[in-house]
Amino acid sequence: MGAPKPAMSSPEVSVSTPTHDGLEEKQQDGRPASDYELYIFDMDGVLYRMDDPIPGAAETIRYLCRNGSHVAFLTNNSSQTRADYVHKLARFQIEADESQIMTSAYATGELFKQWGAVGRSVYIIGEVGLRAELERAGMTALDEDSRFPDYVVVGWDRDFHYRKLAWAHQCIQHGAQFIATNRDATYPDTGGRTLPGGGTMVAALQTCSGVEPQVVGKPSPYCFEILLRQYRVQPARCLVVGDRVDTDVAGAHRSGCQAALVLTGVTRAEELAGMEVDLCPDYVLPSINALRANAANGQTPPGF
Ligand SMILES: [Mg+2]
Repeated sequence: MGAPKPAMSSPEVSVSTPTHDGLEEKQQDGRPASDYELYIFDMDGVLYRMDDPIPGAAETIRYLCRNGSHVAFLTNNSSQTRADYVHKLARFQIEADESQIMTSAYATGELFKQWGAVGRSVYIIGEVGLRAELERAGMTALDEDSRFPDYVVVGWDRDFHYRKLAWAHQCIQHGAQFIATNRDATYPDTGGRTLPGGGTMVAALQTCSGVEPQVVGKPSPYCFEILLRQYRVQPARCLVVGDRVDTDVAGAHRSGCQAALVLTGVTRAEELAGMEVDLCPDYVLPSINALRANAANGQTPPGF
């Protein structure tokens, strides 16, 4: 099919190699978590849980903006558009515009633009938000059982079924390049339960095709790189705030950013013992609210 396959890393972004060589260095550093130019917030488990806001989230976002920091929001969820997230955040009294929102669906569209693939064809396993973002980027979305596309993009799809998998498998056999929006194994449901995440559909297609996909979302650095470039901030001046070590913390460190883990979501404090260094957050905070509380009383948040 001749689809261009350049490397994921953007040449414009200078991403330093993480230099964390142990916990002592982080404790000696002592920089307050309130002292960053750019904050990249994961959303689910940080700002809200399903439809319930995390107390103090909206006030903390407003506090950081008032103090002159840039604030951006990043999710691996590919099912909704950036505009959908603007409305969702507004429900939680968080004001944002589309330029502050980064999703794996939007980033996949940006990747195609970076590759010069605009106008090429794509078969999508995913929901309406993913299709909307790829069409916005200028891609031509093809239905199954039509002609073979240049690319297959797989994201979270709550209407996933065998026929979609079989068609995507055929497309890859005919030379389509396999792109995954993310590999999240689960998606948080109500009552502490989880649902199968987008990574489940990715694994199904990888299993039958034998092809490793190019992954756009966290922990890949790609989404972080777009935001760092957009705000013209060096990675060391950026704090990523998330609730999962395997996506938020790992992605932050792979991008050269610092990471704060909040304990209002997936990862629990007791799970951090013995964790490999790249997955260890630079700060552990009880909730997003601690960014504001610590800044207000001049304390350094608990380093990890
Ligand atoms: Mg989360």
